[in-house]
Amino acid sequence: MEHVTQMQQHYRKFIDACHILHHQQVLDTDGHISFRHPRRDDVFIMPRDMAAGAVSSEADLVEYSTTGALPLDPTSPAGHAERFIHAEIYKQYTHVHAIVHSHSPAVIPYTISRVRLKPCSPTAGFLRACGPPVFDAATYATANLAGDSPPADLLVRDEYLGRKLAYRFSQGDVVALMRAHGFTAVAESTEQAVFRAVCTHRNAEVLTTALAVQAAAQRAGSFPQAATPGIHYLSEEEVAAAAAGEAAAVRRAWEMWVREVRAAAVYVNSA
Ligand SMILES: [Zn+2]
Repeated sequence: MEHVTQMQQHYRKFIDACHILHHQQVLDTDGHISFRHPRRDDVFIMPRDMAAGAVSSEADLVEYSTTGALPLDPTSPAGHAERFIHAEIYKQYTHVHAIVHSHSPAVIPYTISRVRLKPCSPTAGFLRACGPPVFDAATYATANLAGDSPPADLLVRDEYLGRKLAYRFSQGDVVALMRAHGFTAVAESTEQAVFRAVCTHRNAEVLTTALAVQAAAQRAGSFPQAATPGIHYLSEEEVAAAAAGEAAAVRRAWEMWVREVRAAAVYVNSA
């Protein structure tokens, strides 16, 4: 009985997380969040194939094995095609307990240009001073034995692509950008995953504004002749200081964001 109560709490928190990510415009009709089962390391939980903002009860959630991203219950409703992202990351990294995959339109420009998504403020310090790596699914597109080419939609639809994406986290990165697609963020908790996804999205918006301001100033001749124009990103030292303050920032943000979605009639959480 105690276990049932604990799982209900996990489901309720997770459904809040789905709603927050929609409310913060990180997830629209595409994209998803998952969490690792608290007592079974080889199982993760994510919504069925539906928009995150519409998830409303335990019946909308599916348990998957990290092996093959197969549902534990074969009669489960249809799942997201890209659940292999989650399965392969959980398999490779035991410290990861929650993952967000987003098609954020604010982030996509940084996946198709040579501009790195470096951190512009302490809330995005987890992006690291050099910015996250970029994964390109097209790099791994190979014809199968029948000579058929994989679909060119860049989605991570199988274990092979999921594994290749998961490698992008092997050097300590917690966010990987995905060319012409979006990004994936990993974390040790659901709250931290939500925070990192929201702050990745917002950092992209801030950087886009900074680049526009700089370009306008250059056109207007606002810089002294000798000055080298450039964005002044967070330094290595500032990134380290941001990491020390992340837990408190996550707590503050989570408390506020939960209040917002529970007060919004569009979201239902009956878990
Ligand atoms: Zn995707």
